[in-house]
Amino acid sequence: MSHTNLFDEVKRHFEIVSFISQYIKLKKVGKNYVGLCPFHAERTPSFTVNGEKQIFKCFGCGASGDVVSFYMRIKGLEFKDALIELAEKAGLKIDQRAFTEKRKEKDLVEVNFKVAKIYQHYLWNSPLSERARAYLKSRNLSEECAKTFYLGYAPSEGRFLASMLRTQKIDLDLAVSAGLLKKGEDGSYFDLFRDRLMFPIFNEKGECLGFGGRALGPEAEPKYLNTPESRIFKKSEILYGLFQSKDYIKKEGKVFLVEGYFDFLSLWERGLRNVVATCGTALTEKHIQKLKPLADDFYLLYDGDIAGAKASLRALSMFLKEGVFPQIISLPEGEDPDSFAQKFLKDPEEFKRELSKFLKEATAFVFEFYRLEYQKNPSKVFNEVLELFQGISDPVLLQRLKRELAYYFQVSESDIEKKLRRPMQREVKPQLESQLTREECFIKNIAQYLVNFPEDIPELESAGLKKLLQENFSSGIYHQFLMKILELKAEGYTSFLEVPEPSFQEILGDLLFSPPFEDRKQALEDIKRFIGVELQKREILKIAERLKLLQRAGKKEEVESYLPQINSKLRLCKDLKKH
Ligand SMILES: [Zn+2]
Repeated sequence: MSHTNLFDEVKRHFEIVSFISQYIKLKKVGKNYVGLCPFHAERTPSFTVNGEKQIFKCFGCGASGDVVSFYMRIKGLEFKDALIELAEKAGLKIDQRAFTEKRKEKDLVEVNFKVAKIYQHYLWNSPLSERARAYLKSRNLSEECAKTFYLGYAPSEGRFLASMLRTQKIDLDLAVSAGLLKKGEDGSYFDLFRDRLMFPIFNEKGECLGFGGRALGPEAEPKYLNTPESRIFKKSEILYGLFQSKDYIKKEGKVFLVEGYFDFLSLWERGLRNVVATCGTALTEKHIQKLKPLADDFYLLYDGDIAGAKASLRALSMFLKEGVFPQIISLPEGEDPDSFAQKFLKDPEEFKRELSKFLKEATAFVFEFYRLEYQKNPSKVFNEVLELFQGISDPVLLQRLKRELAYYFQVSESDIEKKLRRPMQREVKPQLESQLTREECFIKNIAQYLVNFPEDIPELESAGLKKLLQENFSSGIYHQFLMKILELKAEGYTSFLEVPEPSFQEILGDLLFSPPFEDRKQALEDIKRFIGVELQKREILKIAERLKLLQRAGKKEEVESYLPQINSKLRLCKDLKKH
């Protein structure tokens, strides 16, 4: 079964209202169902499900789509994986190719976990691991903690892993795909990680996706080496420790974010267990989306230096765009979470109390960060701070920020609002009817018609729709959207809901939720006539341009020869309009 067929099958199998009801409470209002949006924080429901069209849309955050896109979002899955999981739930047959890919991912995860156990065994049992064990001890990490996270040691001898895998009869090429071995030109295999303390990295399901390795030699570069990025190992999505800490996070409703493996383990050892770490990369929206369903309160706990403060600012801005107001723990200069935790080895409770003393509200942190510079260069700081807060769509957050920023900069809230709004309008968002020009209104109307009746695309194309669009008829978002739809249709897309582009989906959802066409046939005729008139008008304009040039050049006879052509076009326009 191909993807497209599977997609249709899956959609036929799951009725969207009852499907979504498994996740949130829906109430019938008119012919729609509404509930609290699971994708952004809200108190009054703006999440709407339309059973007739089998789609959902949130009027708060703009999330929209069908049953598959809902599942993708709520589970944090890629389109393909969501489809496969749903198909499995529905007991449908799955395309062999997609299945083999899935199979291969499972194999990679398996080989990773086997290797994690090999390194772990080596760490605790080989005399050659003495230095690694001593190192853990020097960082005050217990054996129990190290074992919970499957820490291991990769020896410096470069053929260790290859020979271990061979004796365990594990396919070496699989280990190459997993980024654990490299294959030399002579066909021999050698280890990627050498003389490193190994941190296996699990996803939230407990699947081992890759490794981070810290060099033990003082001169070794780089200090940290990660599994190369691959289909399964994506640093921008993985949070270290989440598998072990997620129950603590859920229970407390709070999560601490740190930047490194040792920060994480050190806090864990000290009894602070609702923690996750990014794996040597800046925080991304994917990370935040993973954490949002688990916690209400978010604490950024980065290094107490300028780099840490800058990382906090970046992360803060990322959080705000996701509709979350985090708090920041700003450690004393020179401390990092690990070193700070080490000070309270004997009393974990005191450690937690001490941490809370450095807690700052996000805006307070920002203002303090810029305090000195603000005195020197207020307008630069003003712009930088507002830049940081761009792109926030949550109205409650926005209101609060406006108030705080206005107070801090001693300007009016409307000045702040203007500043904050500016770049957001450049973003692709459904627009209000009143902001559209007459042309854009027509284009929107055509777009709305075609998302509902895509089978009429060929008919409108032969009526000259493409030509009209290429004439630069209008330039707004619906124009781009319509072009995209024609492209997709040409590429053979049957359902636009399948297009994995959030901004596209947002407009699509908006159009699908608009009131339906009462008389479809009439609507189609109106659109065709409109296209005809507009194309004629454009022709006339072009001729008029030419005439102007001829007139200027004094070519009177040629000017006159154009008159019949113009008259006939004008008549055509009039006729078209009359119907
Ligand atoms: Zn929402």
